[in-house]
Amino acid sequence: TTRIERHHYDVVVIGAGGAGLRAAIEARLAGKKTAIISKSLFGKAHTVMAEGGAAAAMGNVNSRDNWQVHFRDTMRGGKFLNNFRMAELHAKESPQRIWELETYGALFDRTKDGKISQRNFGGHEYPRLAHVGDRTGLELIRTLQQKIVSLQQEDKAELGSYDARIKVFAETTITELLLDGDRIAGAFGYYRESGEFILFEAPAVVLATGGVGRSYKVTSNSWEYTGDGHALALRAGATLINMEFLQFHPTGMVWPPSVKGILVTESVRGDGGVLKNSEGKRFMFDYVPDVFRKQYAETEEEADRWYTDPDNNRRPPELLPRDEVARAINSEVKAGRGTPAGGVYLDIASRKPAEEIRRRLPSMYHQFKELADVDITAEPMEVGPTCHYVMGGVEVDPDSGAAFGHVRGLFAAGEVSGGMHGSNRLGGNSLSDLLVFGKRAGGHAASYADGLSGRPKVPVAAVEAAVETALAPLQRDTGENPYTLQQDLQAVMGDLVGIIRRQGELEDALGRLTELRERVAKVSAAGGRRYNPGWHLALDLRNMLVVSECTAKAALERQESRGGHTREDYPAMEPAWRRVNLVCALEGDTVRLERKPLPKMRPELVGLFDRAELAKYLTDEELTEFDALVA
Ligand code: FAD
Repeated sequence: TTRIERHHYDVVVIGAGGAGLRAAIEARLAGKKTAIISKSLFGKAHTVMAEGGAAAAMGNVNSRDNWQVHFRDTMRGGKFLNNFRMAELHAKESPQRIWELETYGALFDRTKDGKISQRNFGGHEYPRLAHVGDRTGLELIRTLQQKIVSLQQEDKAELGSYDARIKVFAETTITELLLDGDRIAGAFGYYRESGEFILFEAPAVVLATGGVGRSYKVTSNSWEYTGDGHALALRAGATLINMEFLQFHPTGMVWPPSVKGILVTESVRGDGGVLKNSEGKRFMFDYVPDVFRKQYAETEEEADRWYTDPDNNRRPPELLPRDEVARAINSEVKAGRGTPAGGVYLDIASRKPAEEIRRRLPSMYHQFKELADVDITAEPMEVGPTCHYVMGGVEVDPDSGAAFGHVRGLFAAGEVSGGMHGSNRLGGNSLSDLLVFGKRAGGHAASYADGLSGRPKVPVAAVEAAVETALAPLQRDTGENPYTLQQDLQAVMGDLVGIIRRQGELEDALGRLTELRERVAKVSAAGGRRYNPGWHLALDLRNMLVVSECTAKAALERQESRGGHTREDYPAMEPAWRRVNLVCALEGDTVRLERKPLPKMRPELVGLFDRAELAKYLTDEELTEFDALVA
């Protein structure tokens, strides 16, 4: 028999980014014995890479900011497809979560009068991102880890062991959730280094596994992001929503090829950087869509004045939401006005003194110097769209983070959950999302565990099946190499389910994904269980595949363009589609897609928008309802 290390916990948190750590802290504060599991080293997660900041309407830099304005911006950014309740909770609770981080020891940049400084970002009406230079995520993770250490010290004093109530399992990958009927009973995985198996028995699991970007070749995401949490949820009976919506960040590095996709923070534009084509033209003025025209400057002069006098000028079009900017860059390149490496120019050098650039954007300065031998204080950067963030994710109850579908005891928070950002996420809204919903999911997982009369049991057969699935790639001699399969998957997704989509290509993609599914079922990994990345990838592939299928299916079904989903054959945003969420579920091995009406926004929230704006998004029927409410 295979050796399996067994552990017992009340709450198991899968993922050690911001959402996972904040959830674990909350579960531990509720007195639960809590495990935190991370696929990579502890402290290495996308959260740590977040540069720009965390959006929270604290009103420190512009006192007109408040939760209502933040709520409006978020709904606009998501083109009204957001789960309104999540957007509301997020806008209301973000400031508290940021101030709370300070009590954990976070040191944010300050305004002259000593308040937490806030910077401008795309789609945010006022300066709203609390930040630490361009290394905000690092401070966020550092602080949350410090809080965990301090809780462990309390536990040592009280119970004699640092690990008594909260323990970190780093470099440990979860491959399976285990169920007792429809209740979560635990999680199964392996230590990456030894290849040994590990089993957590626990009645409540919080998924905080982040994104799916590794299914694309050009991506800002690192190797861990293979959609594991999305796939684990599906296989456990939960549902995913909004999977057609992926965010292609407008500014990734395009040169040299080895670093293509690495992120260039939006702060460059927030701090005054502008986009130019090969003819030297600041082209974004040509790409302001009607729904945003009122809020954006029409001339370079007005746009430039906005940085110093935002009350009397409109914002530069470089700060439109990301989907708009990414599409614009794509169009410029396609029209033959791109740079030699196939991007456009992002210029901060001619706009700010070198010393200020180095102070405000230290990571960007070093990134370009070291990776591309470009001095961003003296020359423009070359940038282009890169797959960055998945809006879609586990369909959850907005208040608790509990997963919908046929499973109990499963919670999700952070990028792996869906709904909050609708069809497109505003920059900075992720870091605050992690804190708000991480705390909520951790707290609700704890009370769910408290409320159980008996603990679910891990069925022996489920463990045996998990072992068999995990070992299978090592036991096949003839199957394909996992790296070839990943490349083929990335080619399908990048070429056929990328930034601009068409019916024929999406159908083609689904055909190819079916073929890939058969090939992945026979994947083989050379070598043994000791540190074997080929084996790990072989196991990740089935997750990438099922998640990619959800994306391709939903992208084919949604016949409109909205946010992170652009259909060349259906270029308009259709009010009727705004009322629909596409929900993915797994039936056996097959991805099923269902249309589900969006929850209706509460009247006092609808009332925050003026009718003219609502008319751009809502159906006539909905507008009639609105008029009746106001009358
Ligand atoms: P992550 O921080 O992504 O953490 C996921 C965790 O899950 C990791 O610990 C990983 O190891 C673990 N995991 C995954 N699968 C498994 C498994 N099978 N078993 C065990 N563990 C697993 N957002 C902003 O708001 N502002 C910004 O300035 C910003 N900048 C960004 C810059 C970059 C380069 C990138 C890539 C993203 C940026 N984002 C930004 C987005 C934001 O960082 C992420 O959306 C966010 O950090 C996700 O946090 P999370 O807690 O959900 O997951």
